[in-house]
Amino acid sequence: MFINMNVSELARKLKVPIGELRDLLPELGFDIGKRAIKVDDASARKIIESWHSLMKEYNEKKQAAVKEPEVETGTSSAPIGGATEVREVKIPAVITVRDFAHRLGTLVTKIQEELMKNGILASLNERIDFETAYIVAEDLKFKVIKEEGGEEQQKIGEKLKGLLEEKDKEKLEIRPPVVVVMGHVDHGKTKLLDAIRKTNIMEGEAGGITQHIGAYQAVKNNKLITFIDTPGHEAFTAMRSRGAGVADIAILVVAADDGVQPQTLEAIKIIEQAKLPYIVAINKIDKPEANIDKVKQELAKVNLLPEDWGGKTICAPISAKQNIGIDSLLEMILLVADMEKERIKANPKREAVGTVIEARVDKGEGPVVTILVQTGTLHTGDHLVIDNLVYGKVKAMKNYKNEIVKEALPSTPVRINGFKILPQMGDITEAKKDVKGLEAKRRPHRLTDERPVVAAAAEEKKEGEEAKAVNVILKADVFGSIEAIHESLEKIEHPEVRVNIISQGLGNISDSDVAKAEAGQAVIMGFHVSVPTAVEQLAREKKVDVKIYKIIYELIDEVKSRIEKLLAPDVTRINLGRLQILAIFRTEPKHMVVGGKVLDGKILPGVKVDVIRKKVKVGEGKVEALQLAKQPITEAFEGQECGAKFTGKVKIEEGDILEFYREETKARKLE
Ligand code: GDP
Repeated sequence: MFINMNVSELARKLKVPIGELRDLLPELGFDIGKRAIKVDDASARKIIESWHSLMKEYNEKKQAAVKEPEVETGTSSAPIGGATEVREVKIPAVITVRDFAHRLGTLVTKIQEELMKNGILASLNERIDFETAYIVAEDLKFKVIKEEGGEEQQKIGEKLKGLLEEKDKEKLEIRPPVVVVMGHVDHGKTKLLDAIRKTNIMEGEAGGITQHIGAYQAVKNNKLITFIDTPGHEAFTAMRSRGAGVADIAILVVAADDGVQPQTLEAIKIIEQAKLPYIVAINKIDKPEANIDKVKQELAKVNLLPEDWGGKTICAPISAKQNIGIDSLLEMILLVADMEKERIKANPKREAVGTVIEARVDKGEGPVVTILVQTGTLHTGDHLVIDNLVYGKVKAMKNYKNEIVKEALPSTPVRINGFKILPQMGDITEAKKDVKGLEAKRRPHRLTDERPVVAAAAEEKKEGEEAKAVNVILKADVFGSIEAIHESLEKIEHPEVRVNIISQGLGNISDSDVAKAEAGQAVIMGFHVSVPTAVEQLAREKKVDVKIYKIIYELIDEVKSRIEKLLAPDVTRINLGRLQILAIFRTEPKHMVVGGKVLDGKILPGVKVDVIRKKVKVGEGKVEALQLAKQPITEAFEGQECGAKFTGKVKIEEGDILEFYREETKARKLE
């Protein structure tokens, strides 16, 4: 219930600037007065209830009157674009708020505002379905056409499919399966990848040092298996969001002493969405607390009924640490690959197509990029084309064993030198012998080890919005981590407080990071990197926060808590009681002593009051003390008469009402 709501509060509820609301209300038939501070209860309710339809009517009238297209101001309540004719917009089955705003040619906040009117609170990157987008677009006078074929992602996915498709089935040959490892943090993904690498890479080879390039190959029964070496589903999701489909088989690692955890569930969802066949590796069976049956029970509960319990889920008990069960896990992978062999094929005798699985800039070498070849054979000298733009040429290639190779067959990961422009993880790359007629990708920024981020935040800024921001300088050991952190940060974006990554890069924290952080009032966040003592010292002097993390979630939590600190607290007004003024005893410049009778509720000294005259708030102040028969009292109830010492600018008159209230503030939390 709102008793005499503040106009500012009403404006906040309606998400309209207060000045604009004051101008609009008379036009909409609510004469509250140009300077009104309060709106009475009944009117406020009526305004809120009918706002949506009133604005619609108002916009329509305005549109009819306007012949010339108006300039969009962003905060104006005029119809978007102001054009008189109805414009068409194509909307897919699912669309992000940001993309939707772009298609309508309007501000993200405008869309959020419209969604809010329909009871939907959506962040920038949140996806809304066609029906919701339809309602909003129609309200904004757009004619909506459903875009067939659905999401952008699907389109890119289709593109990859198209590129990989081989009309001549005769030319297809079996290629090694590509395996991705997913699961909850600390369940042993990295350890498992290490264990496989150590024991199975060198089969038949006389030693050698493997290089982290984002993927490697293992040999089992003379067959190759390719492993994506970036554990965790964040990276996988980041790649998939760009339509990349690199993996053929997933291994879901579940620790036998910890069971199914939130990220396990998330991984299952991702695996199912990607329609990947998978094997559950029940890890850490060497631990005394390990309970394989309990894990199986938990799996069964989420519809992954293990094979030995009559279901279809293949489970492999392993210990990545003690190298138990790794061999049979590899056997199982080959078995699954064999079952799926019709899908795990490629034509090695064509121009290659692959996906970028890691990309970073090396100080000496420039951009170094790992590509997983998915079909065809990649040769030195091939041109590298992404989205019909030439990004460079293969100058040199190395495999995961750090050996120079001249060609790479399907399912082979290779580290490439020769990219002139750094691509992004998940970019689908075509190798071409001839690039006549194709343009070169132009350098978006100066190539340094830090790629300026065209992040959501920066884009938003362009739109001229003012919001509070958590400024971050991000440093990590590999590019994949930066991508993963980005993805996670985008997910927590908030309409009131932005996360602004002002710079990102690879390697340890440096002096220049500290300087940038100081200038940009940012916190430096490092992931799997360190801070040299001298830099730490400098940061302390400059009062720059440097935080180092080994777990993405902890980094994200820190950002979340910084966002929360910047969120305006929720203020709840609690009305206590009202005092009707019957007499004025004394008037001083800033104080008054008045007498009155409590109309309702209970009044207390030491709280804020609004001064109401003829139902309109005319001022505010504080009642410092209450008196009864010259004695101070701590409260007065309905019907009681008392004196009050008032502090405030407004001059109280007989007949005014003092509304006593308390304000409670509560820090807000991200959901
Ligand atoms: P990730 O976060 O899933 O990549 O997990 P890690 O591979 O980093 O492993 C987390 C911790 O569990 C590390 O301390 C590992 O040494 C330990 N660990 C991994 N596998 C096993 C295992 O099979 N047995 C035992 N006892 N510990 C393991």
